[in-house]
Amino acid sequence: MPPTPLVELHDVSKSYAEGDAVRDVLSSVHVSLYPGEFVVLLGRSGSGKSTLLNLISGIDLPSRGTVRIEGREMVALSEHERTLMRRERIGFIFQAFNLLPTLTVEENILLPLELNGRAGPQSRERVRELLDTVGLGNRADSFPDRLSGGEQQRVAVARALSHAPPLLLADEPTGNLDEQTGRKVLDLLEGLTRRENACALVVTHEPGLVSRADRVLALEAGRLVEREKRA
Ligand code: ADP
Ligand code: MG
Repeated sequence: MPPTPLVELHDVSKSYAEGDAVRDVLSSVHVSLYPGEFVVLLGRSGSGKSTLLNLISGIDLPSRGTVRIEGREMVALSEHERTLMRRERIGFIFQAFNLLPTLTVEENILLPLELNGRAGPQSRERVRELLDTVGLGNRADSFPDRLSGGEQQRVAVARALSHAPPLLLADEPTGNLDEQTGRKVLDLLEGLTRRENACALVVTHEPGLVSRADRVLALEAGRLVEREKRA
């Protein structure tokens, strides 16, 4: 028996109305992602990468087709159930780091645990350990605006994984960083994701990460294609 997919898209299409016209962004996308896979998503600007991540997370719903997370169909859930699913089962990293400016570094990373009702001593221990892992053990009490872009994105990586979600979605997480800093953040993201045995879907064009990924997907003219990986 093949393992149950963590993410399963079946015949997913997405169109947006633009005035009287309809714009097809995704056409008949089929894909399954499995626990522990590190997957890179390629595609030029406007090809629908963010749209695809939004459909997987249930922020947006498909025009046609089904999206299942851990076997549960997103369209069949209520808005509130989708919110809970996102909060409990998914971690996000965006291009803009999206840290809360009024919370310290440590509080930002603790937030997903708090939202899931898990703010006890064990969680605080985990947050401190994650802070050390991302090399910011001495910045726990700093506010985000005191950190460099690279440091802020390292905090965002720790935050996305703090509640140990089985699925991590990262949308051009190094788009605001210089090349060298971006590479470091991606290395950290990969290391931490693999250590946690999470499934990651990462939008990036960084060649090193593309070659190390377990799978490489690409959006081309609305279709999702799997790129052959050389063994
Ligand atoms: P990418 O992330 O690959 O750059 P996006 O998924 O953001 O691409 O966008 C794909 C296409 O869908 C773009 O042409 C964009 O303008 C369009 N689009 C995205 N969101 C919306 C929306 N809410 N309403 C209308 N068009 C949208
Ligand atoms: Mg995008």
